[in-house]
Amino acid sequence: MSLLIDTAPLWFMATNTWVVAEGPGSAAIVIDAPPDPSGVGALLAAHDLTPVAALITHGHIDHVGGVDGVAGPTVIAYLHPEDVDMARHPGAQLRAMLGGGREEDPDDLIQTEFADLVDGATLEFAGLSVEVLHTPGHTPGHCCFRLANHGILFSGDQLFRGSIGRTDLPGGSYPTLMQSMADRILTLPEETDVLPGHGPSTTIAAERLHNPFLRELL
Ligand SMILES: [Zn+2]
Ligand SMILES: [Zn+2]
Repeated sequence: MSLLIDTAPLWFMATNTWVVAEGPGSAAIVIDAPPDPSGVGALLAAHDLTPVAALITHGHIDHVGGVDGVAGPTVIAYLHPEDVDMARHPGAQLRAMLGGGREEDPDDLIQTEFADLVDGATLEFAGLSVEVLHTPGHTPGHCCFRLANHGILFSGDQLFRGSIGRTDLPGGSYPTLMQSMADRILTLPEETDVLPGHGPSTTIAAERLHNPFLRELL
């Protein structure tokens, strides 16, 4: 079965938003919604795609801040329940990331009602089967999404080419992230393509060989 996958790095944090569909002109899944909904819209329009679901890897603003502009009556947004409170306060997150003491603006609040991501569940949308892997550590509710039939993993901010997600933000835990890596990521087939939340794509095999952060696990 063919697959259309495309990405664009959006917002000043260059967060990869991904669109996945069976082909041009069909229904699509959006993975992550940076605070640039028009950028997500342009990516969808480039392939004449109709979004039906937005799967959010975690509650950081650079992945969820644009969800109100992507989700809607015909586009279900999914997020792990442990990250929902964080997602609703993007202004507070920005202050934690960048500093600053501005009072929270009520307009910062994200309004989207999220459906729960459940570890081990398989979501069926747009003719695709997406397995949910709860991989806490970068945030408590971080999830990766696997298209097992296609050997693809959307790794969010869990695993990057040559690096891993930071764990110094509120709710982050390095030991928890490494446990997720050992239990849920390094157990995947080596040929799995890894499409991350930032930076270039890679494979499980390449990261096993070259990623210095994984050495202690191998
Ligand atoms: Zn993040
Ligand atoms: Zn990120």
